Amino acid sequence: MKVLVINAGSSSLKYQLIDMETEEVLAKGLAERIGIDGSQVTYQPEGKDKIVIKEELKDHGDALNIIIKELLDEEVGVIDDITEIDAVGHRTVHGGEEFKDSVKIDGDVIEKLEEYSELAPLHNPANLMGIRAMQELLPEVPEVAVFDTAFHSTMPDYAFIYSIPYEFYTDYSVRKYGFHGTSHKYVAIEAAKMLGKPLDELKIITCHLGNGSSVCAIKNGKSIDTSMGFTPLAGLVMGTRSGDIDPSILFYINSKGYSMDQINKILNNESGALGISGVSSDFRDIEAAANEGNQRAILTLRKFCYSIYTTIGSYAAAMDGVDCIVFTGGIGENSALDRGQICKNLSFMGVELDHDANWFEKGNRFINVPDGKVKVAVIATNEELMIARDTIEHIND
Ligand code: AMP
Repeated sequence: MKVLVINAGSSSLKYQLIDMETEEVLAKGLAERIGIDGSQVTYQPEGKDKIVIKEELKDHGDALNIIIKELLDEEVGVIDDITEIDAVGHRTVHGGEEFKDSVKIDGDVIEKLEEYSELAPLHNPANLMGIRAMQELLPEVPEVAVFDTAFHSTMPDYAFIYSIPYEFYTDYSVRKYGFHGTSHKYVAIEAAKMLGKPLDELKIITCHLGNGSSVCAIKNGKSIDTSMGFTPLAGLVMGTRSGDIDPSILFYINSKGYSMDQINKILNNESGALGISGVSSDFRDIEAAANEGNQRAILTLRKFCYSIYTTIGSYAAAMDGVDCIVFTGGIGENSALDRGQICKNLSFMGVELDHDANWFEKGNRFINVPDGKVKVAVIATNEELMIARDTIEHIND
């Protein structure tokens, strides 16, 4: 069985074709600058060189046409016939309150997704473009929407409700939704496998630290709280996103002459690590600057780690304990420095890292001291594989 996984953005489309018997990626790539000058598709069949196809892409349909042509190509293709694609899984950002799990796509689902575009204007319309283009191209192939929000649908009301008038929740659906759910779910499942215990008997805190970052408290396999909120702007310090700030700051800055549109842009694109450091949104650059003594870069790393270990501490309280902390995402998987800084302040609850395992070992592993009370794992996330697994599970809904 082969599943094509699609992650459609407004002007880009990432894809992977996965063989579900082996869970191996047969081919993957990216269509870029869709609808913009200079568009191109990259195509990389497993074990072979990457191919770049420079062609005008008017829309997502054009991009998918090229991708399918390459998948079927005599020389570089990985399938002989289009019917070998058994299902398509779409990364879909917002499932609102309706979608508590992945779902097979039909007309009703599309209508709901259009409704939820209001809640995720940057993401859902783009995801829908990918879904519609795929439906036109391969109408017979079942498609499944896998939501970033769904894993967090198990949060209790006291975790997801905001302390503003209740009518904003009932009338306008204002509540915490949480994101990165596919990644949190994937690494929690992998952590349980590594621990050799059933997921539904564990208390796990997963830290997805990348350009966007979030922490999730997973009790007995269910998300009970997470740091992103109504939108992915909330919570931790991120690459360019502010994370949590006092909402009154918005009105104060507004009174200084910044429009709400400008403030929206500042909080999403000019804040976070970039805003504090003035160096970059990329943590490799910030770590390099900090090593050279740049005080704002040092402050950025301190603030970033502070926002994470204080969240981990509060989630340990939310679950009345923790068995395992997991680090994933570009920073979580690669930065021994940040993992070390974060865990240093969690020694009070029995977190202690093995220096060599943290700094020098590679791949998925535990990095806690051998008899550590709380296990700490580094696990590479694989959202595409999680989407493909969910797609197979929901293909017959
Ligand atoms: P992601 O969004 O998961 O792809 O993560 C991207 C972030 O991971 C960027 O801020 C990168 O700078 C960061 N990153 C990747 N490798 C490293 C590394 N070796 N040390 C520190 N940060 C890293």
